[in-house]
Amino acid sequence: MVNKDKVKEAVRLLLEGIGEDPERDGLKETPERVARMYEELLAGMEASAGEHLAKTFEASDPGMVIEKDIPFYSICEHHMLPFYGKIHIAYLPEGKVVGISKLARTVEVFARRLQIQERMTAQIADAIMDTLHPGGVMVMAEAEHMCMTMRGIKKPGSRTVTMAVRGAFEEDERLQNRFFQMIRQGI
Ligand SMILES: [Zn+2]
Repeated sequence: MVNKDKVKEAVRLLLEGIGEDPERDGLKETPERVARMYEELLAGMEASAGEHLAKTFEASDPGMVIEKDIPFYSICEHHMLPFYGKIHIAYLPEGKVVGISKLARTVEVFARRLQIQERMTAQIADAIMDTLHPGGVMVMAEAEHMCMTMRGIKKPGSRTVTMAVRGAFEEDERLQNRFFQMIRQGI
């Protein structure tokens, strides 16, 4: 739970710390605005992926299910700056499939908290494995990190790619290649 009073106090201190005047017109409401913003951006801490993934449908042999280009916005825990991009998810249902929007909701649960991209990718894969019990899961995240493009090495447009592979995808290279083909092609 975000403690808004503490966040407001901290933002006021931060403004003072960087040599600003927290009482000047443009900044007066900033601590309150930032506190409200963090409540929204970190809402995933309070949410549970299991809830979203609990509603399943029966499907006999649907083959590989792929949901690609799911947009996400997260915050890196090292610099508290945004990183954002797209996530692609594939899984091999064993009788149970989940609504497309539920995969996007699952992404939000793990994106809306202080994160590192590798952990977020793994958490999404594990949540799908643990609740849907599919034959396998593959998750790929492509993201731009503001802490790399605004500062430091300053490489605008450079992307960080992370992957989590579970179950049948781990041993089967053909499955992995099909995943890559499907996310690179139109469908
Ligand atoms: Zn960072």
